[in-house]
Amino acid sequence: MTQDKETINTSWNFDNSYARLPEAFFSRQEVNPVRSPELVKLNETLAASLGLNPKQLKEESGTAVFAGNEVPSGALPLAQAYAGHQFGHFTMLGDGRALLLGEQVTPDGKRYDIQLKGSGRTPYSRGGDGRAALGPMLREYIISEAMHALRIPTTRSLAVVSTGETVSRETSLPGAVLTRVAASHLRVGTFQYAAGTGDEKNLRALADYTIKRHYPEVEADKNPYLSLLREVMKRQAELVAKWQLAGFIHGVMNTDNMAISGETIDYGPCAFMDTYNPETVFSSIDVQGRYAYENQPLIAGWNLARFAEALLPLIHKDQEQAVKTAQEELSGFSNLYEGHWLAGMRAKLGLLTEEPEDKALAEELLSLMEKHRADYTNTFRALTFDQYDDTILFGTKEFTEWHERWEARRGRQEETKEASRELMRSSNPAVIPRNHRVEEALDAAGKGDFTVMDRLLEALSDPFAHSPEQAEYAALPEPSLRPYRTFCGT
Ligand code: AMP
Ligand code: MG
Repeated sequence: MTQDKETINTSWNFDNSYARLPEAFFSRQEVNPVRSPELVKLNETLAASLGLNPKQLKEESGTAVFAGNEVPSGALPLAQAYAGHQFGHFTMLGDGRALLLGEQVTPDGKRYDIQLKGSGRTPYSRGGDGRAALGPMLREYIISEAMHALRIPTTRSLAVVSTGETVSRETSLPGAVLTRVAASHLRVGTFQYAAGTGDEKNLRALADYTIKRHYPEVEADKNPYLSLLREVMKRQAELVAKWQLAGFIHGVMNTDNMAISGETIDYGPCAFMDTYNPETVFSSIDVQGRYAYENQPLIAGWNLARFAEALLPLIHKDQEQAVKTAQEELSGFSNLYEGHWLAGMRAKLGLLTEEPEDKALAEELLSLMEKHRADYTNTFRALTFDQYDDTILFGTKEFTEWHERWEARRGRQEETKEASRELMRSSNPAVIPRNHRVEEALDAAGKGDFTVMDRLLEALSDPFAHSPEQAEYAALPEPSLRPYRTFCGT
């Protein structure tokens, strides 16, 4: 049969560059088929952008790939090895429930990891079953796609299949496999693993591979490994600033969950904050608040120090000199972060110019929000449209005074009020994936009704549209006696 042009241009086109790293970095792995896979969600837009044909992916053969029942031509399934600091403690890890099929090379030459999550046991599974439940995989789908639409670098979700099998957690739950798409799955923990093998050849191979794949512009630098550290720091500074500006709490910023590409990765216990409170923690196991909202920039810096440690032998052959050089570099992180955060805050406040007092102006608003328990997203939404409801904050004298100062500050820029408002519209989302709406969508999906999730995804797909249909998603949850809790290892 001759293939028509459309078919040729819209199919899996795998390369397997990661598999060409030294063997220590992975374990080749047979796929672990599941009983009766069914496609429950396909990201058609993403599929098309990867050069795949959504119509074909919806056929049985497409589902078989997403379930791990069939290996598509050109794929070379493997589980990646890595280590990581989990809540500060160093551990050997690796893909315990994931398989990298390979790298899809798109028609425009971009390369993306295609990974099955929940695909069964691997040599790194330890005591785990290697599987995932439907609810958490759909949750990752919703939140990662929302992040993408909020213009926050992130891994994406291509498909979710239910497996027809159950997984045993606190109760018995329907099983699922998520297909994750990532710039790569190289983590700070991958470098820690490489350094831990004690063989500098491994570390160098990984660093060279990473530079080629993500930072080719530093390849010819005098010290490309120091440049690698710097570039990763830059991307993390920008990423974590975006999290803070959106009110996103990752929840488990272990070093194995920090991607070298600068994408948000590993949607376990993450959630968006409603009421502004810097101490917010959602994760049930984060009892010390290590990964609380306010700690995220600090933790990013801590993780980058672990990255630098792993790189030391490459940075300089004299260890003392290597430490000194790395420390100098790392000391720049907080300024990098602050710069991105302040630029983002200026945009959220409609400030097109820079004044020295801008940071204080933003911080005063935040402290008023904290004091009066205001909703983070809705406060900026109200400022954007200059429409203030009966929220306690807006009725206070302190807010009125702040508002006058803000208006005066905006008046000192030459740009029109419309330009300022336009900047605010495109910087302050109308809708975020609020926890109660995500739960509502997952409850319905669990009962076989996907319409609630589809509507939510539609609203989240263009968060800066401020359309009438999005208005309902600004509504806050009913006050609850129990705080919202999220879970790891689901
Ligand atoms: P995470 O909390 O998702 O970052 O996972 C931490 C480590 O636990 C990784 O090595 C995962 O592959 C592994 N893991 C999580 N869930 C399972 C599971 N159900 N079976 C086997 N390994 C798992
Ligand atoms: Mg992880």
